[in-house]
Amino acid sequence: MGLNQDSPFDLIIIGGGINGASIARDATLRGLHVCLIEKNTFGSGTSSRSTKLAHGGLRYLEHFEFSLVHESLRERHLLLQNAPNYVKPLKFVYPIYKNGARSFLKVRCGMWLYSLLAKTSTLPKYRTLNKPELLKQCPLLKNEHLIGGIEYFDAQMKDYELVLANVSDAKEHGLVSYENTTVINLIKSNDKCAGVIIKSNETNQKIYGSIVLNATGPWCNELSKLDEPSAKPLVAPTKGSHIIIPSLGLTHALTLEVPMDKRMFFMIPWEDNTLIGTTDTPYNGDPNTLIVTKDEKNYLLNAINYYLTDKTITMNDIIDSFAGLRPLQ
Ligand SMILES: Cc1cc2nc3c(=O)[nH]c(=O)nc-3n(C[C@H](O)[C@H](O)[C@H](O)COP(=O)(O)OP(=O)(O)OC[C@H]3O[C@@H](n4cnc5c(N)ncnc54)[C@H](O)[C@@H]3O)c2cc1C
Repeated sequence: MGLNQDSPFDLIIIGGGINGASIARDATLRGLHVCLIEKNTFGSGTSSRSTKLAHGGLRYLEHFEFSLVHESLRERHLLLQNAPNYVKPLKFVYPIYKNGARSFLKVRCGMWLYSLLAKTSTLPKYRTLNKPELLKQCPLLKNEHLIGGIEYFDAQMKDYELVLANVSDAKEHGLVSYENTTVINLIKSNDKCAGVIIKSNETNQKIYGSIVLNATGPWCNELSKLDEPSAKPLVAPTKGSHIIIPSLGLTHALTLEVPMDKRMFFMIPWEDNTLIGTTDTPYNGDPNTLIVTKDEKNYLLNAINYYLTDKTITMNDIIDSFAGLRPLQ
């Protein structure tokens, strides 16, 4: 099916990240005949380069994006319920310093609103910590100018594994999937998209489908040009970089402000190490050649070192780094 015009797939999905994989699973469970095409390996794009949080996006509250936060918190609840092997509750501590950009009152109001929007949440409620309580939980933090903080819960996800789990379940329900296969063109019939031309190992092949879905995340501008060469960009990507350093002994995550620009960033326990991220800069380059620059590593190192007492993390401590592109509109 799908290899000739008379029996097309119901749905062809281009891009095997979390969006492509979860749509494939949903559609196959509904009985549709679906084909998923990924140019590298499933989950190798943005979906394995996230900060690995299933969260409501606390920082979006500052921009009054209440419906986005509400929707994300609902998704967090569903993920915790439906994918407990991949998404688990994670405690966060948010220390407040006298010289920070967000006052204790502002953060407390934000937390109150965050928990109000998380109506269905089964996670423990947030609570206020005084300075001694906070330092007891986070002895690695400097105490100068520290006022206290907030303890709250969000969730952490195994982002890459979640993609693979969706693909695997979809395959059990009949998904036809291709890896290391690139969609190089679209097949048009009466001005409508009727399928795709794929390339794998120097061999081209036609696949037909009633609906063709562009789920290529940060590559979607490139892909939409196959449909209409003069198409306006669908997304304006921003680059986010992370570094991984040996464990700082955290059993919970920390939500902190970058001292230079007051953006929020996280220090998170991750696979016996500590994950730190992210940066956020506009990106117009090739999505295929992302690297974490020295400046980006320095930005994150400066941010963590500002908060650490008795310890300085250097370039030599960085075990690994990775970057992704946020497919923002
Ligand atoms: C730095 C950063 C941190 C983030 N942190 C979080 C977080 O903590 N929590 C959260 O929920 N979200 C987070 N996100 C957002 C989240 O990672 C993305 O929204 C999500 O991964 C996008 O998934 P996707 O399937 O749309 O794209 P992708 O995962 O990028 O998948 C698109 C796929 O399309 C493939 N492709 C492209 N062109 C073609 C072609 N021509 N033919 C075949 N295949 C093609 C690519 O190889 C790629 O695998 C973060 C994003 C970034 C960048």
